[in-house]
Amino acid sequence: MNDESQKEKLRQHFARRVTTQARVVLDTWQKIHEDRKMSGAHRSEFKTATDKLVRYAKRFEMASHADAAEKILELMEQWSNGAPLNEALERQIQDAIESLSRSTLRSTDQEGAETPHQFRRTPVYIALANEEMAGRLIRQLEFFGFRASAFTNASELIEACALHKPETILMDVNFGGKANTGIATIEQLQERHDTPIPIIFMSDEDGTIETRLQASRCGGEEFFYPAVDPGQLIEKIETYTHGNTVEPYKVLVLDDSRAQAKYMETVLKKAGMTAHIITDPMQIIHALEEFSPEIIILDMYMPGCTGMEIARVIRQQDRFHSVPIIYLSAEEDVTKQLHAMSLGGDDFLTKPIDPKHLIATIHNRGRRARSLLALMIRDSLTGLYNHTHTLHLLDQEIVRARQKDHPLCFAMIDIDYFKKVNDTFGHPIGDRVLRSLSMFLKQRLRKTDHIGRYGGEEFAIILPNTRPSDARNVLNEIRERFSELQQPAGDREFNVTFSCGVAAWQGDSSQALCERADRALYSSKNAGRNCVMASEE
Ligand code: GH3
Ligand code: MG
Ligand code: MG
Repeated sequence: MNDESQKEKLRQHFARRVTTQARVVLDTWQKIHEDRKMSGAHRSEFKTATDKLVRYAKRFEMASHADAAEKILELMEQWSNGAPLNEALERQIQDAIESLSRSTLRSTDQEGAETPHQFRRTPVYIALANEEMAGRLIRQLEFFGFRASAFTNASELIEACALHKPETILMDVNFGGKANTGIATIEQLQERHDTPIPIIFMSDEDGTIETRLQASRCGGEEFFYPAVDPGQLIEKIETYTHGNTVEPYKVLVLDDSRAQAKYMETVLKKAGMTAHIITDPMQIIHALEEFSPEIIILDMYMPGCTGMEIARVIRQQDRFHSVPIIYLSAEEDVTKQLHAMSLGGDDFLTKPIDPKHLIATIHNRGRRARSLLALMIRDSLTGLYNHTHTLHLLDQEIVRARQKDHPLCFAMIDIDYFKKVNDTFGHPIGDRVLRSLSMFLKQRLRKTDHIGRYGGEEFAIILPNTRPSDARNVLNEIRERFSELQQPAGDREFNVTFSCGVAAWQGDSSQALCERADRALYSSKNAGRNCVMASEE
């Protein structure tokens, strides 16, 4: 083993030690967070764990972990031993915990066969006159991994927003007791923020056009009347919180000039995109497979072949038929440019490139490509991958698992007695259950897992780089939590369970893997439903 790889191995070994300790900190925090009254009892355990994390992270030079842990220690100075944690401080510590958890997730995603994690999000604030309703909503939101807090007066809400800007606020139009005082509070609140917070207004009466206008002008995205049921609200909240996080565009650049390629890489990364650079045209097929770009930028003239020829090769593959291709060259001859476009290109940029122009072009092309792609590969009810695309992803992950010699698991989920849900509560409520399960899965699985709607009330999950025992544990935890979720139907509530079958890839075909997962699912149904079974074969 050479020196470099020896060093890399050591580094990875130590990195694992730091992330393991970070997990101890996160787990202890979870205990505190779940029962604030009892928090005093866990304070010293939490402090010891965090102290240790700071030491490890510093020793092994993992700056983002060290920073987050030090921030926690600094905040803990305001928390005296044995005392319960106050709400304002809890929120601040939660922020530091979130950045720690982000650092940890990032490194484990690269690290390999790890148990999937839960993601925590920035908060949702609730300001409703009906406290019982607010409480019910918070419990529901927490099931989906949101952090929600309710407020009983305007000044507390404004203070909390100053401390931590929420993803969205659910606001009673008459919050505060008088007509439209809720809207007035929001007006006051938005003045303090550069970008407005999206607001979901609720009202007990149908607002006049003046009221609705006023609400819309201060950031009201929705106006709910009559008061809606929690299921519908949670879906709305999900759209506002999800819509804000746009995944970075994945851009592949092929340019034989290393300097030009490097320059492009810098510009793209600065704009928050993920760039993959190659300088050898012969690497293109490999790069397409490895990187799965959403946008491709090709230099026009390279030794051995032209950008147009490469574009034709790319277009010959079904999968890349609609990926936007942007040519890059010093070519100013419009006829030649038009010719190039006719051969499968979408845009033409002339060197020297103006970074602003480049980024704007990529954004426009990328946005359109994504919405077209979504129509092709996603299920319209749940937004999950459709059957065909799920199988396609499975094939792709099998190739990857084989190349990297990684484990891979595949799971099938089927909702129990779903027909009865439809019969009892109606088809629209059935649809809502499907969406709630899909949100639940998205929330609780890793970004690297793929979730598909396999059929009516059947879902499929691909868990790359996951050991069978981990896959089973994670799915079982999801099953348990989902079964506790209260599904709202008007003023009634009910519970839904699912059965699940998991199979580990054994070097066989995707078809064989699906069949094994399906048989395991069938065993779960036979065993009485509401359970997870692993394929024994
Ligand atoms: P089991 O526990 O054995 O899985 O029982 P089940 O009732 O869930 O299974 P069955 O296959 O008998 O029924 C599935 C039901 O799912 C029948 C169908 O009407 C319903 N369904 C399928 N797709 C949708 C949909 O998109 N929306 C709604 N609301 N219902 C759907
Ligand atoms: Mg079924
Ligand atoms: Mg079913």
